[in-house]
Amino acid sequence: MSKVAIVTGASRGIGAAIAKRLGADGISVVVNYASRPADAEQVVRDITAAGGRAYAVLADISDSVAVEALFDQVELAYGGIDILINNAGIIQPDMVNLADTDDALYQRIFAINTKGTFNTLRLAARRLRDGGRIVNLSSCVVALALPGYSVYAASKAAVESLTGIFAKELRGRNISVNAIAPGPTATELFVSGKTAQMIDELAKQPPMERLGTPQDIANVVAFLVSEEGGWINGQTLRVNGGIV
Ligand code: NDP
Repeated sequence: MSKVAIVTGASRGIGAAIAKRLGADGISVVVNYASRPADAEQVVRDITAAGGRAYAVLADISDSVAVEALFDQVELAYGGIDILINNAGIIQPDMVNLADTDDALYQRIFAINTKGTFNTLRLAARRLRDGGRIVNLSSCVVALALPGYSVYAASKAAVESLTGIFAKELRGRNISVNAIAPGPTATELFVSGKTAQMIDELAKQPPMERLGTPQDIANVVAFLVSEEGGWINGQTLRVNGGIV
């Protein structure tokens, strides 16, 4: 029987690459999205055209009621859930110092990045099948401590804390919980609000001297959710070409 994965924020960027990779690996994939149904349906079409099984589900992950409905729908359609990839996330539109961050921006970033991850983890504790896998997306800005990213980095540092503790709280279930902290990766989230020169400078920072691709990240997720990756648990893996 094929495993079942929920990938949050899978309509584009890193989430779409993860969904397609897991679909190609024979996993049934739920392509979650928030605002772009056409993009999510395209990801589903790409997966099914390649011989995989997928469908798209709308749910704002910051809303715990919507997340519960998402889990209900997946269980109904696929009979259970084995893998949860907490990928959906947002960043501030431009770099903004802590002193200039307003309440609304602070709340929005934490609502999606941190509370959104908490919402799905809390349900996963009861509803993921034994032997499952969880991967949460953090960011290398936690380690880089880049000016202009304070609230975003803090929201992801919280995700890393949830990861380590949740792995221990799931003792006895044979469910691994890990985080991946990508470096600059070529997606809409990364490029929006930056000039070509800024993008170029950031791309040169890792010793590999390029931006990461969504596939670079999806490859590591695929390993973590595989049988071979099962001994990695409670860790945050930096996947960033060596930037930090
Ligand atoms: P994108 O902006 O390209 O894509 C974001 C995805 O998240 C979209 O599918 C979007 O759905 C979805 N989303 C946004 N808000 C919600 C919500 N409330 N509920 C459900 N889904 C939502 O981002 P990336 O692919 O770049 O980022 C993916 C993850 O990787 C994020 O957690 C990000 O913080 C992290 N990351 C990214 C880095 C980068 O350089 N790109 C570096 C380090 C970490 P829709 O299309 O429907 O709006």
